[in-house]
Amino acid sequence: MIDVRHVTKKFGEGATAVMALEDVSLIIPEGSFFTLLGPSGCGKTTLLRLIAGFELPSEGEIRLDGDSIGHLPPHKRPVNTVFQNYALFPHMSVARNIGFGLEMLKRPKTEIAATIEEMLDLVQLGAFAARRVDQLSGGQQQRVALARALAPRPKVLLLDEPLSALDLKLRKGMQSELKRLQAETGITFVFVTHDQSEALAMSDQIAVMSAGAVQQVGTPEDIYTAPQSRFVADFIGDTNIVTGELLGYDGPMAQIRFGEGRSLSVKTASATLVPGPVHVALRPETITICDAASDAALLIGTVRDATYFGAGSQMSIRLEDGTEIQAQVDRPSPAGTLVGLNCDSAMLQVLAD
Ligand code: ATP
Repeated sequence: MIDVRHVTKKFGEGATAVMALEDVSLIIPEGSFFTLLGPSGCGKTTLLRLIAGFELPSEGEIRLDGDSIGHLPPHKRPVNTVFQNYALFPHMSVARNIGFGLEMLKRPKTEIAATIEEMLDLVQLGAFAARRVDQLSGGQQQRVALARALAPRPKVLLLDEPLSALDLKLRKGMQSELKRLQAETGITFVFVTHDQSEALAMSDQIAVMSAGAVQQVGTPEDIYTAPQSRFVADFIGDTNIVTGELLGYDGPMAQIRFGEGRSLSVKTASATLVPGPVHVALRPETITICDAASDAALLIGTVRDATYFGAGSQMSIRLEDGTEIQAQVDRPSPAGTLVGLNCDSAMLQVLAD
């Protein structure tokens, strides 16, 4: 397991200093597929480089299986990295690329040959062993890069946006391939992406980052269905954020009312909000449309327009307070119709900010 303890990383000094990470603490469980997710510049790559040892923290420490690894240079850490641009040797064969790290480690020739075979099998490139890397497709090069990084059997594999150079179809294929490789090898994967759907599809756990800090850590389902902050709700998919009135708490549940309606029991990210207006996350796919006069209507709004997307339509609705809401529906109502919006209260989430 990787234990990141109160890590801060500052680049430069004085007025031009950049705080890339600020007091980040995280536990990355052994053998998990763990994703660092966040927008450009939030510090994902910096955290990966600190784990790899290419950078040292300004404050804090990183432990691997209980031992501090701060004093170890990159090549002494049981950690390997797959870079965005693969960093392969273009003129060498696939097999040599895979074995190169093991040659550097001066492993016996028979062991290197056996590992190359095994890795070729693992990434399904057996037929390409003798091919030069610059004669391979992007997806095949990606597999070589993976095989090379896995060959020394690191405890941890760091992957920095490894799929970003691939087209959409290949990317989807490689997503399941990477999951399979992680499950088969049992190696801890720390995967960096700014693509939320990729993170949701692949990870055991996700750490959502913004501006050098970890905003939330959880399973894809936690992050998707129970975002704690406006940032996470906004970043993971196209969540609606509506204003409700907090009446109080009933155990762990918040009592929320929209407009003049009945009160509802809703999950909350914080049990310390004061009664009054609060933000509530509402997913487009959980909304159902009803008659505006119906008792079932939690919110009331006017249909603005609808966009057909194949599996249904995305309908845009303006609430009475001016908030624009997106709802996924089978059959959209005509623009200008006054509609009621209903949602299972278990699908709502009160945000901490
Ligand atoms: P991206 O998705 O664009 O790669 P990221 O989340 O990986 O972004 P980082 O590369 O970790 O972000 O950068 C975090 C912040 O630290 C940014 O503001 C970046 O400009 C800054 N930074 C990173 N490396 C250095 C460096 N060597 N010197 C100065 N500033 C740096």
